[in-house]
Amino acid sequence: MAWDFCTEPEFEEKLAWIRQFVRDEVEPLEVLFPGCEFLPPDDERRAILDPLKQQVRDRGLWAPHLGPELGGQGFGAVKLTLINEILGRSPWAPIVFGTQAPDTGNAEILARFGTPEQRAEYLSGLLSGEIFSCFAMTEPQGGADPRVFTTRAVRDGDDWVLNGRKYFASHAEIASFLIVVAITDPDVPVHRGASTFLVPAGTPGLVIEATHHLVGSLPHEPGHSLVGFQDLRLPASAMLGEPGQGFLVAQSRLAGGRLHHAMRSIGVAQRAIDMMAHRAKSRFTQGSSLADKQLVQEFIADSYAELVPFRLTVLHAAWMIDNGQQTAARAEIAVCKILTAKLLKSIGLRAIQVHGAMGLTQQLPLVNVLLGGIALGLADGPTEAHKVNLARQLLKGYAAEDPQWPSEFTDVRLAAARAKYGDRFDEIPALPRDRA
Ligand SMILES: Cc1cc2nc3c(=O)[nH]c(=O)nc-3n(C[C@H](O)[C@H](O)[C@H](O)COP(=O)(O)OP(=O)(O)OC[C@H]3O[C@@H](n4cnc5c(N)ncnc54)[C@H](O)[C@@H]3O)c2cc1C
Repeated sequence: MAWDFCTEPEFEEKLAWIRQFVRDEVEPLEVLFPGCEFLPPDDERRAILDPLKQQVRDRGLWAPHLGPELGGQGFGAVKLTLINEILGRSPWAPIVFGTQAPDTGNAEILARFGTPEQRAEYLSGLLSGEIFSCFAMTEPQGGADPRVFTTRAVRDGDDWVLNGRKYFASHAEIASFLIVVAITDPDVPVHRGASTFLVPAGTPGLVIEATHHLVGSLPHEPGHSLVGFQDLRLPASAMLGEPGQGFLVAQSRLAGGRLHHAMRSIGVAQRAIDMMAHRAKSRFTQGSSLADKQLVQEFIADSYAELVPFRLTVLHAAWMIDNGQQTAARAEIAVCKILTAKLLKSIGLRAIQVHGAMGLTQQLPLVNVLLGGIALGLADGPTEAHKVNLARQLLKGYAAEDPQWPSEFTDVRLAAARAKYGDRFDEIPALPRDRA
């Protein structure tokens, strides 16, 4: 029976290299170039970034989420978790390792559903980190419920004509292309009537109407755009997948993306715990270190006690994927999605509290942990929607019982037990203590 928590020594060596590389070479970029991860690199940043990316390539660690056919290593999900939890420590690390969201998911869509021409034009640029991309599904009137989506694509000869608006399209301003979900058949339920299109940046009729930034982000960061499509004309080949497969295509990126966020969040949370512990040992108040205060000890213990089962859940979901249990893993991935937001919010808040007022300033990366937790409770679908879906999925495994007496009710069980063994007794068997 294989049920093994060990990491093979050769891979542990790779992890040790990644740990040191991220700490020594990558984390300094956070303060040199804050919020510039998704800006097309200028000469100054390129001079530092390109050699770092080359080192990652030379080590055979570039694009660790991809299979070898796409220039990745084919590590599988468990090893990817062990890598991503380290990369999660720094917002620059996914860029340096070619595994940043939302481009990872968009690359997977292109790889699976793109035409050879689309792959030739965009995939290699995306995989090499030279271009960025955008996924546009949410609409101004709602994101959690696709039934409110109205963006339409209508067939006109060989073309599709797109009209509508998308909201919170992350990175639309810097993207070389957008992947857009639009209704192609309004006469069937949206899950069968939507399709996915590849819209190149600069296509006539594509209008970025506004870009909104999350609180806590910097003004130069590419934000989240309100995008309009005004009689935007696309060739038939712009459709990714088949007509009506829009949500199938979208799900193929969202499920993996949710797990990737969870993997990286392990590293985010671990870094916050490290900061909390260092501060607790270093700061003194009322005659002793914070580390000696029981309430602060509780902060540290509670944070670790949340992180450990979270990490195991993420690893288990990854293990299920590696073992071909994709369908069963959906419930586990939903659990990871739900817990990610909770974990970052609770650990982020404690870490801020232990740092006192300084914890709230831009001098420390802790408010971003908290805000990241809030954002991940919404991005890729709100926590509540995932809880509802998870509960529905779980409930499918249960049948209704007698509405009055549940099957665990002692009298019901006794009747069943008598039916099974009753012919061996004249009376109910005595309890052991009565026999004594
Ligand atoms: C940082 C960030 C990046 C994002 N990037 C993208 C992107 O690149 N592309 C994109 O298309 N979208 C993106 N989004 C949008 C995201 O997918 C939506 O915010 C999300 O789907 C929720 O939609 P909404 O904001 O319209 O909230 P609504 O749909 O209005 O929902 C509001 C609230 O209602 C509650 N709710 C909703 N459904 C249920 C339910 N079934 N049961 C109980 N309560 C419920 C929840 O509390 C929910 O937060 C991003 C969001 C964030 C925060």
